[in-house]
Amino acid sequence: MKRSDKSEKQGKGRTLRYYVAWYYIVFTVLVIVLLWVFQYFFLARYYRSARIRAVSNVGSMLIESYMENDIDGGMKRAAFDNSMCIVVTDSGGALITGENNLGSLSYFMRDRVDSAGYYMHQLKQELIESGQPELTKIMKNHALKSEEIIYCRSFETSESSEPYYLYIEASVEPVDSTVSIIREQLVYITIIIAEMAFILTLFISKRLSDPIVNLTKKAKKFAEGDFTVDFEEHGYTEITALSEVLDKAEDEIGKVNKLRQDLIANISHDLRTPLTMVKAYAEMIRDLSGDDPVKRAEHLGIIIDEADRLSNLVNNILELSKLESGTIELSCSEFSLHDKIHDVLTRYTLLIEEQGYDIAFEPDEDRKVYADPDKLDQVLYNFINNAINYSGEKKIIRIRQINSESCTRIEVEDNGKGISKELLPKVFDRYYRGEKIKRDIVGTGLGLSICKEILKRHNFAFGVLSEEGKGSTFWFEIPTDREKKD
Ligand code: ADP
Repeated sequence: MKRSDKSEKQGKGRTLRYYVAWYYIVFTVLVIVLLWVFQYFFLARYYRSARIRAVSNVGSMLIESYMENDIDGGMKRAAFDNSMCIVVTDSGGALITGENNLGSLSYFMRDRVDSAGYYMHQLKQELIESGQPELTKIMKNHALKSEEIIYCRSFETSESSEPYYLYIEASVEPVDSTVSIIREQLVYITIIIAEMAFILTLFISKRLSDPIVNLTKKAKKFAEGDFTVDFEEHGYTEITALSEVLDKAEDEIGKVNKLRQDLIANISHDLRTPLTMVKAYAEMIRDLSGDDPVKRAEHLGIIIDEADRLSNLVNNILELSKLESGTIELSCSEFSLHDKIHDVLTRYTLLIEEQGYDIAFEPDEDRKVYADPDKLDQVLYNFINNAINYSGEKKIIRIRQINSESCTRIEVEDNGKGISKELLPKVFDRYYRGEKIKRDIVGTGLGLSICKEILKRHNFAFGVLSEEGKGSTFWFEIPTDREKKD
């Protein structure tokens, strides 16, 4: 699938806000449904069993009061507080004491009045047959049109050898009023939860999606080639991390872009200048100096120099691109470091003799090193060439070997103009050339980047120390596990 098709399809997908809103709605509905289910189906049941427990507790409390001769006071309070009808009879069914807070429609009242306590007698029998200390029932009081808890319990007294019976009739009615209050509240709670969920959904989805939308806008600008976009975006950790990564990517892509522009500018400039010179001098020979052997030789010399410069540049570009793409394999072998440095220095004898350069090697004990000899040659050659090119008037260059336990350090030092602090980190970059470098300094701006690639491929540490006006020291270190002592 083509990239554009893909993004078109993605564009039609749902937004983050949509998903957040959906999840929130589903969550809220679930919470509300759960609330309603619990309140509707379980509350009444729970309330009823709690009420039965309460009646049983009242029963125990009343019997205790009876023992303490305070049955009447306790009964009044209990009947009043809990809307109950309480009756105590002896084993024959004769009323000992009683308190009614349910009015004349109370079941026990009607039983006593209309049926001479028939139902209470039945209850007593049921209790005796069950062998349990107490009996609880739920029944419908048709007169009161409500459900009631009927409780019966026997207890021993000091007044009679036969047990007494405590009957309690309590309405379950309050459960309904409580439930209806709770249900009413539930409606409000539902409305409040729904409203809050709505506001929260808006707020959270905005908070989540806003930074993403902002970043996308900025990324769009960036994709259109604006490398000045500031991706900085806060809100939450992931977004901060993403914006940092995008900023970094922008930096890197910006660098690559700048490099590409510089590269084209540099190559075209570096190619155009020698080509113009070649053309100009060739024309000069054709039109003017063709017959003058001295002038002709001089002009031909310039043409040859410029051609050399061109081939140098092309070679360097090729070399660097091969090194960077990794198509060049190192062919490492073991060789003497002293031999290698002396070998490189022989190339400079003419320069030392004719132009007064003071180039010397300050050796340490010789070591055998394991590296690609040709590539190491190239590094030394580039470092020394640069030292010569930028050594200025002093023309003093030192190649130093410093042995340590972990490595052998090679330094190429000059006392030239040095490199400023700002430019120091850039010297190993491709096509970087110090400004105002005279054209007579043959260079392509690629020498040090080739050195960097070679040393990186060898895994050798390298760097440069420099102070403006005092000179520079380019160095690299060959680790000892890559070398053998004599
Ligand atoms: P060039 O072909 O221009 O020498 P290099 O990659 O070798 O390219 O060097 C890059 C730049 O680093 C040079 O243009 C110069 O400004 C600076 N440079 C390199 N070596 C030295 C040195 N020994 N002293 C001062 N400046 C240096």
